[in-house]
Amino acid sequence: MIEITKIQDWGLGLKKKLVIAGPCSAETPEQIEKIVAGMKSGYKPDVFRAGIWLPRTRPGTLEGVGAEGLKWTEIVREALDIPVTVEVANAKHVEEALKANVDILWVGARTTVNPFSVQEICDALKGVDVPVMVKNPINPDLALWKGALERLNKAGITKLAAIHRGFSSIMKSQYRNNPEWDYALRLKEEFPDLPIICDPSHIGGSRDLIEPISQQAYNLGLDGLMIETHNEPDTAWSDAKQQVTPARFTEIINNL
Ligand code: PEP
Ligand code: MN
Repeated sequence: MIEITKIQDWGLGLKKKLVIAGPCSAETPEQIEKIVAGMKSGYKPDVFRAGIWLPRTRPGTLEGVGAEGLKWTEIVREALDIPVTVEVANAKHVEEALKANVDILWVGARTTVNPFSVQEICDALKGVDVPVMVKNPINPDLALWKGALERLNKAGITKLAAIHRGFSSIMKSQYRNNPEWDYALRLKEEFPDLPIICDPSHIGGSRDLIEPISQQAYNLGLDGLMIETHNEPDTAWSDAKQQVTPARFTEIINNL
């Protein structure tokens, strides 16, 4: 059992269906400006996402711009007046994100797999009332996903959501990460009040799959979407193939 504060009571003016959008990674202030401008004239998401610290599988690829990028969240607030979320993977990230008034934190798939890392995040959050979203672990293990949520809840975090981003598999498929919808539905069954947000970008791994996966998530009754959105997806520093422009993001949401 976990104790959940409903999304409508998070104090951020959010609705039950939660649409989160923004780049895989924050790159430059100009990039953020262009993305929010596109959202201003198109669909305005409920929450803006940006990766500041990126846990990369192999060294030598972009690791994120780091704390410097936290300053750029002001650009989002000024233009769109919506909450901002970033990924945290350790205590230092939590401290820096909270210092920069980041509204919502999320735990990434490569962190959810590690109870020591999750516990470190929990310890850094003691006494803090901030919403936290937990991505499923990279491997299809429901207990690890639940365990991370339970740890956070034990640390006093009740503003919780889960993000379903699919699972690694050795089987070849059209997906980057197999959705295995059953895992999200089983989590919902166990924690009926827990909002579950689908991340079609990391499930699909390619632009053309975002809309059908989003539709499927809504058909299955999931509570929202997190869609990677970039002003110039092809030149994105990370996850270029799966990002969509703000215009395409607007079209996808309107089509659902
Ligand atoms: C991301 O959200 O950009 C990310 C790194 O995702 P995941 O943790 O799901 O791989
Ligand atoms: Mn990404």
